Amino acid sequence: MYIEVIIEITNQNVDKTFTYFVNEEFLSLAQVGVRVEVPFQNRILEGFIVQVNVERPEYPVKEIIRILDEEVILTDELLALASYMRKVTLSSYISCCQTMLPKALKAKSGVNVGRKYKKFILLVDDTYLPRGEKQIEILEMLKETPSIEKQVLTRISASSVKTLLEKGIISEISEEVYRKEYGFTKAKKYPLTESQKQAVFEIEHTEDNIYLLHGVTGSGKTEVYMQLIEDVLKTGRQAILLVPEISLTEQITERFTMRFSRIAVLHSRLSDGEKYDEYRRIARGEVDVVIGARSACFAPLKNIGIIILDEEHSSSFKQENNPKYFTLDIVRKRGEYHQAKVVLGSATPSLESFARAKKGVYHLVELPYRVNQKPLPKVEIVDMNEEAKKGNFLFSNILQEKIAFHLSQNKQIMLLLNRRGYSSFITCKNCGYVAKCPNCDISLTFHKADGVLRCHYCGYIERVLKCCPTCHEESLSNMGTGTEKIEEKLVHLFPSARILRMDLDTTSKKGAHEKIIKAFKNHEYDILLGTQMIAKGLDFPLVTLVGVISADTSLHIPDFRSSEETFQLLMQVAGRSGRSDSEGEVYIQTFNPDHYAIDYAKHHDYLGFFEKEMEIRRKLGYPPFYFLTTLRIQGKDFLKCQEEASKIGKFLTKQLTSSLILGPSSASVSKVNHIYRVQIIIKYKREEKLYPALTYLRNHYKANTQVKLEFDFFPYHF
Ligand code: ADP
Ligand code: ZN
Repeated sequence: MYIEVIIEITNQNVDKTFTYFVNEEFLSLAQVGVRVEVPFQNRILEGFIVQVNVERPEYPVKEIIRILDEEVILTDELLALASYMRKVTLSSYISCCQTMLPKALKAKSGVNVGRKYKKFILLVDDTYLPRGEKQIEILEMLKETPSIEKQVLTRISASSVKTLLEKGIISEISEEVYRKEYGFTKAKKYPLTESQKQAVFEIEHTEDNIYLLHGVTGSGKTEVYMQLIEDVLKTGRQAILLVPEISLTEQITERFTMRFSRIAVLHSRLSDGEKYDEYRRIARGEVDVVIGARSACFAPLKNIGIIILDEEHSSSFKQENNPKYFTLDIVRKRGEYHQAKVVLGSATPSLESFARAKKGVYHLVELPYRVNQKPLPKVEIVDMNEEAKKGNFLFSNILQEKIAFHLSQNKQIMLLLNRRGYSSFITCKNCGYVAKCPNCDISLTFHKADGVLRCHYCGYIERVLKCCPTCHEESLSNMGTGTEKIEEKLVHLFPSARILRMDLDTTSKKGAHEKIIKAFKNHEYDILLGTQMIAKGLDFPLVTLVGVISADTSLHIPDFRSSEETFQLLMQVAGRSGRSDSEGEVYIQTFNPDHYAIDYAKHHDYLGFFEKEMEIRRKLGYPPFYFLTTLRIQGKDFLKCQEEASKIGKFLTKQLTSSLILGPSSASVSKVNHIYRVQIIIKYKREEKLYPALTYLRNHYKANTQVKLEFDFFPYHF
């Protein structure tokens, strides 16, 4: 038989399948979706069978070496999904297949992740008369339980086990075990509130494909998800719940294990072995609910009834490496295939999603109040311009007083340091001025190496000034503040408070997130100080004070989404306060107290923010009014990149007559590992020629050794 194989070739440009011959020996195993080992040029490579029983080609073909799997790795659905991804991201077919799989199941020689086995002992001869206490003890145990883990018995006496094995009285077998274990604790569930019931009913009894569940923080969205999932499972179908952060996976999993038993969890902190096991449990049909971060959208469930994206606005749902897929797009596609409902949940939906919901493209479901009518926390804005004059750069007087007060009440406090966009922009310490591009209304990025400020959209450049253009003081700076420095200050101010820090440094170890969250939840600490990772979703009932050390950094990242991201972050972190019996307070420190994103967050006014931001996006021609696609030209020789970029720019201007071509300009990270990046942004409402033109460019530059092209059809970072 002849088959088509897609081979793991690192060269992205060989994007095609190859024909091989399968001899008698392997016929029974040769099916679509399994891995094969094949000779390719002078090497032995792995690949996936994508077609069987193809016609015998006219040229001579080689024979496969062997088949690696007994079970299908890539189902027909996943292979079709890979084809789709290839088409919409302009990536290679093999990279799309690989991105869906855990390392152990990718087509890649030399990966050494296997199944984990444990040895068990069985009783063979129960007539044997044991000698000595140890033998008696071992055999008695086996008479009661016919199969016991070997380890347990060797702990009694390794030599007795050995003797009994040699004599054939007992025997040893190996059985596969899964590496990850879940502690199931059946807990009683809350009766849903009327609004929660209504939301569930609306989603279950209407015929739409995509729902947007817009519920304020603490409105009980998670309970709604669990009810929806429970109902789906009753019909014999399965569910995927995607969450944005690892820290959230831990907490949500804990809540889910109280309700569901056949769960798998997939996220980047698992070991390769654990991922392998979880993936196979899913593929074998041993799992009903998959919880995980972005890549769990590819979970190989065979009968999906619902897919939920929690915190749908989160930028982590965009994959930033090739293939640069957008999770919602994948989920939509899988939803269509399985005829499953897709539910997007958020307290602060992305502008794109909310606009679609308002237009009726998504079915909007609202949960406007917190569970049991608990009020949203009171939010106060602290003007740091005033505080700076008093010499308070980190903690305003009022925030210090509030921390002291809540500590005295034996409550918990969360402090957020916004580190997004940290120190890459120039601000005036005196008046809060930020250098912006005159053409694009985007803050300029500071390039330390050449001492200039650049606009990453249009290429505008200016020298870094000595004095602030508004207040004329020599107080411009690009200094930022780290969590460590704040921790020091906190210890100094509140020596008896128990302080816990959560940032990239303290969570780099496996299981660290889990520990921090657990310890804080158990009230082993009074203050949790952290970066964005503490803002989303976490549910700590004792937290009554939330402080934002500085709201400003993310306002000035050179990105049209900076106001939206800031608003979302503030709303999310504010939502951590007062979730239980006591009312919560929030203090937001800022040098921009009049900024609309901060003002709307103060009033918990999502709709107000939405209207205002839509107005700005419409005026400036950004999403959701226009689509954006970026094209990055990369190479070691900067001049060559620029030269090619300008050619490409001209080509695109000519071809894409319904689009606006911005740039070429430097990408916001303009050099990585000595590779320069120049980018072109394409803006359009409808552009029929987009894919043809970009495909042409991709093919044209395939063999070019000096520059490489990268495409991003849903850019999040520029
Ligand atoms: P969200 O995800 O919308 O922020 P959660 O689902 O985390 O909200 O719910 C907020 C809090 O309210 C949680 O502590 C949760 O246990 C509790 N809760 C949710 N639904 C109910 C209910 N029907 N009855 C009582 N408590 C509830
Ligand atoms: Zn500009």
